[in-house]
Amino acid sequence: MIFPRTNLFPGQRACSDQMRSLDVFTLMFMTAFTCVGMSMIMFSVHRSFRSEVQGVGHWAWGQLAMVLAVLMLALRGTLPDVLSVPASNAALLWGIGLSMIGTQLFYGQAASWRLFHIVWGSCFIGILWWLLVTPDFAMRVALYSCAELVLHLVQLRLVVRYGERHFTSYFFFALLLVQAALVLIRGVAALVSDGASVDLLKSSALATSYLAISNLVILLLSVAFLVLASRRLQLVLEQRSTHDPLTGILNRRGFGEFFGRKQIHARQGDWPLAILALDLDHFKAVNDRYGHAMGDRVLQHVATLVQQALRERDRVARFGGEEFVALLPGTSAKDAIPVALRIQAALRDAVSELPSCTLSIGIASQSSELEDLDSLLARADAALYRAKAEGRNRIVLADEAVLRCVAG
Ligand code: GH3
Ligand code: MG
Ligand code: MG
Repeated sequence: MIFPRTNLFPGQRACSDQMRSLDVFTLMFMTAFTCVGMSMIMFSVHRSFRSEVQGVGHWAWGQLAMVLAVLMLALRGTLPDVLSVPASNAALLWGIGLSMIGTQLFYGQAASWRLFHIVWGSCFIGILWWLLVTPDFAMRVALYSCAELVLHLVQLRLVVRYGERHFTSYFFFALLLVQAALVLIRGVAALVSDGASVDLLKSSALATSYLAISNLVILLLSVAFLVLASRRLQLVLEQRSTHDPLTGILNRRGFGEFFGRKQIHARQGDWPLAILALDLDHFKAVNDRYGHAMGDRVLQHVATLVQQALRERDRVARFGGEEFVALLPGTSAKDAIPVALRIQAALRDAVSELPSCTLSIGIASQSSELEDLDSLLARADAALYRAKAEGRNRIVLADEAVLRCVAG
């Protein structure tokens, strides 16, 4: 980061001001070029993961609009003020507004295009008024600061409400807060002074600090956008690798991880662990009669019912086809029977236009704290196999007699 140079050598006083403004512009151009690079990365993330991570495209366009604003600002003096001032302010507000829309979409909220246009439009008209009709630099700065503050506050509220409790959200929040504080200070300073101290093209301490810090924040903001997007992507991929896409419940892998965690707790607390192996009866007939799509809906329906019939601490997973497995931590095989009966009753009593079906259930509980998932599953499967052999729609306890099903 390059800060405005002081007059280091005697004899250079004449070009001091020029050097100062040159350095501020160097800083701005560095930010602009880095932001262009960052927005290219964001566009590529947007293209690849458009449906998984929303809002990144708007963040990228927002960054480009901010770069445009910097270029416009740099052209002040070359272009007449009547062009460069409204253009740079408008581009900067567009950029920050697009970032706000991106943040709203990122958190799954509706985009506030109306607010965007109201803030941007009214600010633009005000700037034209205080530039052409009754020229007043301080009022222009105050108005612009107020408009930018609104856009930052909307984003801060979103992060507080919907942000994950994670470093990425804290980082983003901190940057937004710094931006909001900066524009607030500049807006107030413009009103209480004559405005010269906040003119970005003059090398006052306040203007230089404002430019240096806000350039750094814009740069870090593009990093924050990318960090937020990659964190979201990580969560999406984790969810995909541990959950079944059809029913939304855990898959075999997710279930294995859940079992691993619960097994550690069970060992520490000397608690039992029970497993239910559930299989829909004659499900092939449902597919044959009503079609595969209807079969899929039945599977979703059953997954939801089983999930609801379980307790908070239990989890169900789809192990492929029409087979489900539920883990009941802190539960003995005998205590698992009422849970299995509740699941069968829920399926029987469900009011639905879907074809009715029944479940066979095998129950096994850990014989020792060292018994692993494969062995436990094998015993639950053996019990399930017996339930099928005994006529289906029933519950069988591993290594015990067949229980008649109350739902049957
Ligand atoms: P049983 O009572 O012995 O369990 O009989 P079944 O018909 O339920 O079992 P079988 O193993 O003969 O058939 C399982 C059927 O599940 C066959 C397959 O078409 C269907 N199936 C597996 N995966 C899916 C799926 O994702 N969607 C749908 N709709 N059907 C599936
Ligand atoms: Mg079946
Ligand atoms: Mg099966």
